[in-house]
Amino acid sequence: MKIFDVAIIGGGVIGASIAFELAEKKLRVVLLDRQQPGQEASWAAAGMLSPGPHLPGDLPLVPLGQESLRLYPQFVAAVEEASGKSAAYARHGALEIFLPPRGEAERDKLVSEYRGLGLAAEPVSLDTVRQWEKTINPAMRAAAWLPEEGTVEPRALMDAVLTAARRRGVEIRSDCPVTGLLREHDRCTGVVVGSEKIAAAHVVVAAGCFCGEIARDDDLFARYAPTRPVRGQMLALRPDGVNLQRVVRAGRGYLVPRRDGRIIVGSTLENVGFDKRVTAGGIRQMLDAALEMLPDLAGAELVESWAGLRPGTPDDLPILGPTDVEGLLIATGHYRNGILLAPVTAKLVRGWIVNGRTTFEAGAFSPLRFSSRRPQESPKSMSRGT
Ligand SMILES: Cc1cc2nc3c(=O)[nH]c(=O)nc-3n(C[C@H](O)[C@H](O)[C@H](O)COP(=O)(O)OP(=O)(O)OC[C@H]3O[C@@H](n4cnc5c(N)ncnc54)[C@H](O)[C@@H]3O)c2cc1C
Repeated sequence: MKIFDVAIIGGGVIGASIAFELAEKKLRVVLLDRQQPGQEASWAAAGMLSPGPHLPGDLPLVPLGQESLRLYPQFVAAVEEASGKSAAYARHGALEIFLPPRGEAERDKLVSEYRGLGLAAEPVSLDTVRQWEKTINPAMRAAAWLPEEGTVEPRALMDAVLTAARRRGVEIRSDCPVTGLLREHDRCTGVVVGSEKIAAAHVVVAAGCFCGEIARDDDLFARYAPTRPVRGQMLALRPDGVNLQRVVRAGRGYLVPRRDGRIIVGSTLENVGFDKRVTAGGIRQMLDAALEMLPDLAGAELVESWAGLRPGTPDDLPILGPTDVEGLLIATGHYRNGILLAPVTAKLVRGWIVNGRTTFEAGAFSPLRFSSRRPQESPKSMSRGT
């Protein structure tokens, strides 16, 4: 039996980034995916690098997001150098616009909340916004400028990270569904793939919203990685006469420009199980939001629609760190922020595995926090989300 230092379950942006990071330390790493890696949430994402809170419950996430945003340039540079491929990283900032009935009061609240959290935010005049983005809705009442935010193109990033990891010596196995964990007493010693056993000193569970599906008869996954799917639908428009330079967000949705001129429109936030269908209601919600922000998009061609499943958790915070089963770590539950949080997650896992500690305090995200309670079901609902 071949023995690895680390076996990673799941080849999305989280598993692949961890593999890339660990391979720099010359560890023997195997990255296992039940299909082609990088085809789930990480493929579906918009790619905004936005550390601001969406809801009050997001507050513990802000320092983690800020740290990851700080790491992004060096992460992308290392990935691009190792892979020879572009991740289409850009740091053009984002505009949050306020359409009636929202206005200056809501804008000022957002700016002061962001500043209180150490995030850069400033009021920006309507004239300036119209100079920057000429086709924005003239009914806009106020706007905030978030200068530090960036974007990547998730499909390009995934391709680059997987190539970079492979070039650093990571063994990437596609069509390789992990079906269980190898255990000796209180230690995890590898993974099971059907009839095959793969031994590893450390196992990292990074299977996104599918963690609970890996081995339904092993309650370790329900205890330490109680993720659930949260559907997000997306659209791509090819505009005619609209030239968007920056991310624009409003209460009901967001627009993300791509280098090839397309504009990505997002998104819904739906608790509908493992269902990746695009729906009429989802499309209507996104188009309404898009046309409210940029009415001239009415003439754009709708070139693609898709849906992905975000890995949600009972408290909507990621699950990161060692468990009390020796050799078993969890890195999942990144919900709406996995693209942003990939660099910091990779660094944390490297710290736990290589040094036995991390330089960034991540106790709030420990997998042990669920041990005393069962994951909760969320009601069916639909709202805007990254
Ligand atoms: C519509 C949408 C928009 C988003 N926008 C943003 C954004 O703008 N910015 C941002 O930061 N984040 C965004 N996100 C969130 C982000 O996409 C996720 O948080 C992130 O992709 C999660 O990555 P992951 O690697 O944990 O999971 P995934 O990408 O889902 O990868 C999990 C992998 O595990 C594999 N797997 C599952 N079961 C097994 C098994 N038994 N054995 C082996 N492999 C297995 C799967 O095949 C898959 O490849 C968005 C998500 C969606 C859906």
